[in-house]
Amino acid sequence: MKFDSIIIGGGLSGLVCGLRLQKAGRKCAIISSGQSAMHFSSGYFDFLDRTPDGKTTKDLKEALGNLPEEHPYSKIGKERLTGYMGSVKEFFSGCGIKLGGDPFSNGYRITPTGNFKPTWLSLEDFSLLENESVPWKKVLIANIEGFLDFNTSFIAESLESRGTACRTSVIDIEEMQRLRRNPSEMRSANIARVLDRQECADKAVSQIKQQLQDEEAVLLPAVFGLRTPEVKDRLTKAIGREVFFVATMPPSVPGIRTQMRLKEEFEASGGVFLAGDTALSPELAGSRVMSIGTVNFGDIRLEADSYVLATGSFFSKGLSATPERIVENIFGLDIISDTQRERWYDTDFFNRQNYISYGIRTDSRMRCIKEGSTVENLYAAGSVLGGSNPLYEGSGAGTAIFTAMYVADSILSSVNTTL
Ligand SMILES: Cc1cc2nc3c(=O)[nH]c(=O)nc-3n(C[C@H](O)[C@H](O)[C@H](O)COP(=O)(O)OP(=O)(O)OC[C@H]3O[C@@H](n4cnc5c(N)ncnc54)[C@H](O)[C@@H]3O)c2cc1C
Repeated sequence: MKFDSIIIGGGLSGLVCGLRLQKAGRKCAIISSGQSAMHFSSGYFDFLDRTPDGKTTKDLKEALGNLPEEHPYSKIGKERLTGYMGSVKEFFSGCGIKLGGDPFSNGYRITPTGNFKPTWLSLEDFSLLENESVPWKKVLIANIEGFLDFNTSFIAESLESRGTACRTSVIDIEEMQRLRRNPSEMRSANIARVLDRQECADKAVSQIKQQLQDEEAVLLPAVFGLRTPEVKDRLTKAIGREVFFVATMPPSVPGIRTQMRLKEEFEASGGVFLAGDTALSPELAGSRVMSIGTVNFGDIRLEADSYVLATGSFFSKGLSATPERIVENIFGLDIISDTQRERWYDTDFFNRQNYISYGIRTDSRMRCIKEGSTVENLYAAGSVLGGSNPLYEGSGAGTAIFTAMYVADSILSSVNTTL
């Protein structure tokens, strides 16, 4: 089977890259073995909460001047990157996904444990706060009966310490009873499946209305709208007060919906999404990848002019660690990492962990390097790349989206040059 480009990995970076290439007229396939980080995300996109030297700033353009050479943002270059930032909302709205926030500055989100954390853009279910103060004097924090991945008392404690009066309540609808019989079923995605039924959402709304007193806003776990966007606006209208969703512990309902929407858009634009398949045994000749195999296709090889590695980091098995070294799992590519194992991690869990910044070494066009030489038609995007520490910096989604755009544009410009 022959394509123009084959992308390995169907998370945020693989899908953004595939969509950009497909919409520019390239025939693409995405091979994706399983769930991506989006299924477990907060529903907010981080770009750069702090620089590698620990500095925070609201002005993201300014922060870009302080990044090391190996950082994926440095490779993209400040001018091109700020251009991408300016167009990011349009790109996603073209896929039916509305993003909130200012692409050039950070706001704040409330975490599932009630902390305030800087972040960049929000999926439409969520709102961004301008700073670390709470915009309401009184709020109702309502949970679903028996749902343990949303901690109302932590959130209330945090908001009260910032001067907001909080009351907590529970929504108890009979259609949830089957889930409640088995506590492991009481997970956000299962609850959202129930609440996607109009009659169940109506019952929840009616209970919230009865519970409300003079609060200005209702805080709810993000368990509404697995298949339907714009749920926040509909609830706000129905309840008559501001509705503010707080992310739950994983899985992430807005993350799953966004992943599904991007995949549907990719397929609608003519792309082939090979779900539940794993890429393996690449064939290389000289400095080029000639074909790739997959578990499901067996002896049939998939061929393309260019290949994009978007297999994610350790979490998604794009990388793994042996006792001696860090390994890229499909091609055995060159890696940015520390050779001394004791430098991989800090025994204090909450300190910066170096291993999170390990990943693929590339040239300035994000082409991968194997045994010191560039593989001419193999690019890398997203969290498989080395050089940034998404957990410490808070740069996960920004790196995934913009390296994907950059790789797509690198491929497109190399096609145009050879025409
Ligand atoms: C648990 C978790 C939560 C996160 N939450 C946030 C957040 O809230 N906000 C934020 O900004 N960032 C977050 N991040 C950072 C995250 O890494 C990026 O935001 C981004 O989603 C990464 O996208 P990706 O496409 O590079 O990788 P991934 O999302 O990891 O996707 C890689 C995909 O490749 C597939 N794959 C791997 N190997 C193969 C193979 N051999 N063949 C075929 N497919 C393969 C995997 O199954 C997976 O679907 C989070 C990361 C993790 C791990």
